[in-house]
Amino acid sequence: MEKYSMLFDTHVHLDRLPAEMDPISEVAQARRVGIGHFLVPGVDPRDWHALLSMVESIPGTLAAPGTHPLASASWNSEFAAVLEEMLSRESVAAVGEIGLDGSPGMPAAAVQEQVLREQLGIAIAADLPVVLHCRKATGRLLEILRQESAHRVGGIWHGFSGSLETARAAMGLGFGLAFGGPLTWPGARRAPQVLQALPADWIVLESDAPDLAPSPFRGQTNRPSYLGVIAEQVGFLRHWSPQTTARITTANALRLLRLGTE
Ligand SMILES: [Zn+2]
Repeated sequence: MEKYSMLFDTHVHLDRLPAEMDPISEVAQARRVGIGHFLVPGVDPRDWHALLSMVESIPGTLAAPGTHPLASASWNSEFAAVLEEMLSRESVAAVGEIGLDGSPGMPAAAVQEQVLREQLGIAIAADLPVVLHCRKATGRLLEILRQESAHRVGGIWHGFSGSLETARAAMGLGFGLAFGGPLTWPGARRAPQVLQALPADWIVLESDAPDLAPSPFRGQTNRPSYLGVIAEQVGFLRHWSPQTTARITTANALRLLRLGTE
């Protein structure tokens, strides 16, 4: 019981905080308010080495190197080989964040899809879970996850804002749903409803710091310690005590990321 009492931030960009925020003291501050586990996803392959050295120097943190759809143009066969090799490091828990982003200004869909497929293949070959990013491309992402047999590894669907139907499809493929700051924003409608309707075993937390700060910090730089506010909101919506929220969501994160019981 005790070992599950710390919250798990399944998505925090500790390597992309603004210069005035020191990741070591941010993690220390987060620990003081009950956050004990941090998964740091990759964005651009050119930053993976820095990402790994950072997590290897901060206890309680793990990396999920990968290529974000916005950085698809950086991907090449050399980085594929680097990624394959990195996945054997003890500091690496998953491949991420990978997926599709249909927002304006993003790389061409065909390029994003190819980079996604290759990284899914690498994760499956290494038998490691993946961290998904999806914006305005839900149907296509689900289709590719099925085609590439992503259920063999599963993982976490980061920043989940989809419908209950999409959540069910994701869970069916072995993906937990991560909720963050937007859940706390005034006017949030669908995310709270979906959260309330989900089976408890598939809910995890994320800060996505330095982006998407929860209320009342919305619009400011998000900090790892603000995950506590998100956990409170999840507890409120699910009628869970703070300790129950921590116990359930941390156990879910450990299971989905196949980290055992720590
Ligand atoms: Zn992210």
